[in-house]
Amino acid sequence: RASRKTWFKTNPSVKVVKDVNLTINKGECLALIGESGSGKSTLAKLIMKLETVTSGQILLDGQMINGKQVTDLTIYKRIQLVLQDSSTSLHPKMHVEEILKEPIHNYFPEQMVEWEEMFLKLLKLVGLDHSYLSRYSHQLSGGQKQRVCIAKALAVQPDLIIFDESIASLDRDSQASIVNMLKHIQKKEQISYLFITHDLQAAQTLCDQVAVMYQGEIVETFSNWDLRQLKHPYTRSLVHILNK
Ligand code: ATP
Ligand code: MG
Repeated sequence: RASRKTWFKTNPSVKVVKDVNLTINKGECLALIGESGSGKSTLAKLIMKLETVTSGQILLDGQMINGKQVTDLTIYKRIQLVLQDSSTSLHPKMHVEEILKEPIHNYFPEQMVEWEEMFLKLLKLVGLDHSYLSRYSHQLSGGQKQRVCIAKALAVQPDLIIFDESIASLDRDSQASIVNMLKHIQKKEQISYLFITHDLQAAQTLCDQVAVMYQGEIVETFSNWDLRQLKHPYTRSLVHILNK
């Protein structure tokens, strides 16, 4: 459904994010990289309408989604955000089943009857078997909790999932396993990803398109990880990490 998403923010007083013009095509993954404080999370919050765009448009499938008339519910049904610490917000005494039920209950109550088969499919997608449905959140490892959060995001069948350093707190093996899983899911479900990360190797595995943010602006976009085409000094300074 999502074919084009473009966003743009100008704020003459704060200038956290400015003159951004980006597009993610349906089923594509765009990696958003950039130094700490460059405005990546702010951009994610603008898309999720957690911050207000002062000027410009955010389009989803050609429709503007940052207008006053667009409800939060409309956004959450179509765009999901998975944070680095998403799993810490899970109530320790909630079963995985309850966690997965929450978005269905809130957004698609008419589908509540068909939940069981769907949850098992979702758990399988994120690499967890059916036994996890009855586990409490506090009985899961950090990596397993992140997988549950990803399953919860997938439960609403969004057009776009924004991952804001979603795997940053996991060990290398778990990170690699989740990145491979996300790649598999993306191919299967045709979901678009905005993958915000400091992990260039993960970005390289998952995404063909890259946007580089520097001091609130997108200073470079490139594709296919052809490092010869890089121009901005900040991006060029990253090349040695990729060449390792
Ligand atoms: P990191 O890689 O460390 O997560 P980031 O690129 O995600 O960094 P942001 O969280 O977007 O960075 O923050 C960008 C800058 O804007 C920071 O200096 C932050 O303090 C500031 N900032 C964030 N939100 C607001 C706001 N609503 N008003 C004013 N300043 C803000
Ligand atoms: Mg951030």
